[in-house]
Amino acid sequence: MLTKTKIYLSSPHMGGTEQKFVNEAFSTNWIAPLGPNVNGFENDIKQYIGGEKYVAALSSGTAAIHLALQLLGVGQGDEVICQSFTFSASANPIIYQGATPVFVDSETDTWNMSPELLEIAIQDRIQKYKKPKAIIAVHLYGMPYKAKEINAVAKKYDIPVVEDSAEALGSTYFGTYCGALADMGIFSFNGNKIITTSGGGALVVNTEEEKEKAVFLSTQARDNAPHYEHSSIGFNYRMSNVLAGIGRGQMEVLNDRVTARRQNFEFYKKHLSNIEGISFLDEPENVYSNRWITCITTRSYEAREQIRLALLEEDIESRPLWKPMHMQPVFKNSVHFTNGVSEDLFNRGLCLPSGSNLTQDDLDRILSTILKTPNL
Ligand SMILES: *Cc1c(COP(=O)(O)O)cnc(C)c1O
Repeated sequence: MLTKTKIYLSSPHMGGTEQKFVNEAFSTNWIAPLGPNVNGFENDIKQYIGGEKYVAALSSGTAAIHLALQLLGVGQGDEVICQSFTFSASANPIIYQGATPVFVDSETDTWNMSPELLEIAIQDRIQKYKKPKAIIAVHLYGMPYKAKEINAVAKKYDIPVVEDSAEALGSTYFGTYCGALADMGIFSFNGNKIITTSGGGALVVNTEEEKEKAVFLSTQARDNAPHYEHSSIGFNYRMSNVLAGIGRGQMEVLNDRVTARRQNFEFYKKHLSNIEGISFLDEPENVYSNRWITCITTRSYEAREQIRLALLEEDIESRPLWKPMHMQPVFKNSVHFTNGVSEDLFNRGLCLPSGSNLTQDDLDRILSTILKTPNL
């Protein structure tokens, strides 16, 4: 290889028609927030995930989680259960609301929230007169969590579920799209996600009223009056019409992106799964993962670091799996219910480059670097 370019973990991948929608926004001067692309993008997402839900396009996935908690009435002094094995953005909005996170560890089949631990956590909190106000479960790396079991526990105790589907657009669970499996769902269109608007997100809700409330809150909560009248506190969280144009173009290629990411996974699995000590997370039955990021687990922390550093040497980005929230300095005093699963994954796991625009040369370069690592 003559020149070696840097290989990223997950980089944006435009399809081609994004520019057309953005140009439309420019030529019609729909540069301000709101406009036809926002409605079009919302409708594209709505149809994609089955047509039954209502979708509000927002400025980020984090904003979507924040508004979900707001709509569910989470406030000062409330407790919210959150999957510990996740990105901090799943949990931060709990703090924005003045509430307290209670973290729950993962199970080994999907690496997501353990339904058993969830129930233990709920019973403990109820016993202490702190019944959780909501549950935030995450489809990490695009792998659907055990929604039937989680929903059953949530229903038993009558607690709403917010589905953090930031990484799972295009994944399905028993035939239903992730994002449409709970009381409320969210997507992210950040630059590293399976499709991107450069920055953006969406909230998925069950009723038109909830959507209208979300849009109202996301546009500074202006009451209906000729002057600026406010009877509640709002946010500036709406997606802009320019960025929604990128999203409309991206929706046209979403299924291709899922296919490409799944092919990355198959490539890595084919060539690495025969190495003792390296394993992959298989799809449980009736589950289809978008394989946003291909993750491996290694024999030990040392083996993981050897691979990571060898890749770094070759200008190839890789990263340890998410550091669980209950281990984060910022949440060190939080209540948590753990079983060692996420801590172990954090120690031994590695995210491999997984962009839908990786070339065969890129993949070969990554593979040969890993295979050259001594003491795998
Ligand atoms: C990316 C991500 C978010 C936040 O989305 P943004 O659009 O970046 O705000 C939330 N949860 C998870 C699991 C994510 O990966």
